Amino acid sequence: MSSIFSKIARGEIPSYKIAESDKFYAFLDINPMSEGHTLVIPKEETDYIFDLGETDFSGLFLFAKKVAEGIKSAVPCTRVGIAVIGLEVPHAHIHLIPINKESDMDFRKPKLKLQKEEMEAIAARISSQIKL
Ligand code: 5GP
Repeated sequence: MSSIFSKIARGEIPSYKIAESDKFYAFLDINPMSEGHTLVIPKEETDYIFDLGETDFSGLFLFAKKVAEGIKSAVPCTRVGIAVIGLEVPHAHIHLIPINKESDMDFRKPKLKLQKEEMEAIAARISSQIKL
């Protein structure tokens, strides 16, 4: 059975797309910790990120770097934080989170509730800043 993120990468489930290459896909987290919270995934399904082959692993991080640069240009923040958890969705993904202070990376905090229009506007702003 395909993971929810495989279905998102194939366009079978909608997402607020940020960027895409032949192998990788970036989209907004549906329950963001901060505005611009983005997930970066390999299109091909692997559960645990450290099970990726070396080429896919390094490719994923290089793709995430370009996405993070776009987030930094589009969203006012001190840094773009990076985290890998993977306890909820069994499809390798990197969290990229605009942060201003350490507690902005606390996954236990209540998530933001943003309207569809706000998510669309954020996604468009970030994606316009990404040069692959
Ligand atoms: P983790 O597996 O790293 O613990 O968390 C999975 C992340 O994926 C969570 O931050 C959650 O909000 C996000 N997420 C779960 N399901 C969906 C979905 O269907 N669409 C999007 N865009 N994000 C999701």
